[in-house]
Amino acid sequence: VILEKSNGSLKNGSKNATNTANGTNGKTHTGNDWTPFSWKTKPIKQDVSYEDQAHLQKVLGKLSHLPPMVTPQEITNLRNQLKQVALKKAFLLQGGDCAELFEYCSQDPIESKLKVLLQMSLVLTWGARVPVVRIARMSGQYAKPRSNPYENCQGKEVLSFRGDNINGYDPNDRKPDPERLLSAYFHSAATLNYVRSILGSGFADLHRPSEWSLHHVRSQGTRQEYQTIVDRLTDALDFMKTIGVDTPVSPVPSPLNSVDLFMSHEGLILEYEQSLTRELKDPETGELKWYNVGSHFLWIGDRTRQLNGAHVEYFRGIQNPIGIKVGPSMQPDELKELLDIVNPNKEIGKVTLITRYGAHQVEKYLPGHIQAVKASGHIVVWACDPMHGNTKNSLSGMKTRHFNSIIEELSKAIHIHKANNSQMNGVHFELTGEGVTECIGGSMQLADSDLSLNYKTYCDPRLNYEQSLDVAFLIAKYYEK
Ligand code: PEP
Ligand code: MN
Repeated sequence: VILEKSNGSLKNGSKNATNTANGTNGKTHTGNDWTPFSWKTKPIKQDVSYEDQAHLQKVLGKLSHLPPMVTPQEITNLRNQLKQVALKKAFLLQGGDCAELFEYCSQDPIESKLKVLLQMSLVLTWGARVPVVRIARMSGQYAKPRSNPYENCQGKEVLSFRGDNINGYDPNDRKPDPERLLSAYFHSAATLNYVRSILGSGFADLHRPSEWSLHHVRSQGTRQEYQTIVDRLTDALDFMKTIGVDTPVSPVPSPLNSVDLFMSHEGLILEYEQSLTRELKDPETGELKWYNVGSHFLWIGDRTRQLNGAHVEYFRGIQNPIGIKVGPSMQPDELKELLDIVNPNKEIGKVTLITRYGAHQVEKYLPGHIQAVKASGHIVVWACDPMHGNTKNSLSGMKTRHFNSIIEELSKAIHIHKANNSQMNGVHFELTGEGVTECIGGSMQLADSDLSLNYKTYCDPRLNYEQSLDVAFLIAKYYEK
């Protein structure tokens, strides 16, 4: 049956192809009716044009009958956790690569990304004494919006690299290839599978702090601060064991020997997202609802959040918690309207606003946005992305970010929220667990001239392992009780 249905969508080469594998009736909806393809009736930014439409349809047919990567239950769990974040009872840590590559789907990169996120959340939980909700930019963060569709490579004008699920980094491989969408699914699934395996095998077990130790951290201060937390934590766990609170729990999972880690990516390539959108039962009410089963959380980028655009249309129909990037060009009224469109029932924590103005502009725009949201009656998660407004060129012309500007935007955001009777409830970083040299500064005092030592990003500059921990300590200190 599934094969027959996919063939149906194969023959239908138009952009309004039926999502047949999902059992929808294939009618083209208009007006307020939402379907996984209603976005096709709206103007779209950052679109990818595929030369071979038949090939694209064949890939989408295949994608739409592959199994879900995440379940409605997990999506609901994250929604509930983000509600706690919006209500100031927990803190959100979201981070990972700017552009995830298929090549990162391998044991070491996955483990090091997990490790840095877990260590950062340990530091944050310890300092702020609130649970941390962790979301990785991972297992699908393959597509990139670009300011310029073309770039100059060795004197030749070529299409820009749009991420591994669209084209190749090699300048000779820039033609969008639909087969890469299928590859994106399998790399996401393999990444997620390994994440689930190691988390289920005690990777995040607080009883094994030696496996959480710091490698390659140069700064004595950071090492010491971290060691103090681990020692005190070990002590606390010991005490709990003595009084019988911390009974050996395995194989029953508890917050002490396992953690939740959710996956996220920018929902940019709507053909891909639509194929992974399924009508499934809400685990709480039993009603059929639409879920994006390719990731727990998706966000709309700052370049694709037009009120009447295709991306907002797609996002308004899914049950997943969503993020919206908010930059200087967002008008306060527009923000209110956007929230009403994507979250008409004003569900608390359904939307995370990820603000990214730059250290020198945060004071100009954030207060207006906070006021607009307050007046709208929406209760959102306010996360600060101190990366995207602070990108500069280094002396040698490499894209970089200064650690000090990152900290400046963060601390200004914290204070502005306080002054406006609001709270910054989360952070969003581009980071990696490896010792790359892409951002300047931090406790290791990376200099402009050090950037070429290990500059590896294929898109934006990321905090390295040590800089990521530095930032976690600084935030924890702001919130220390
Ligand atoms: C990103 O998060 O990598 C990105 C492109 O961000 P923004 O949409 O905020 O520019
Ligand atoms: Mn980026």
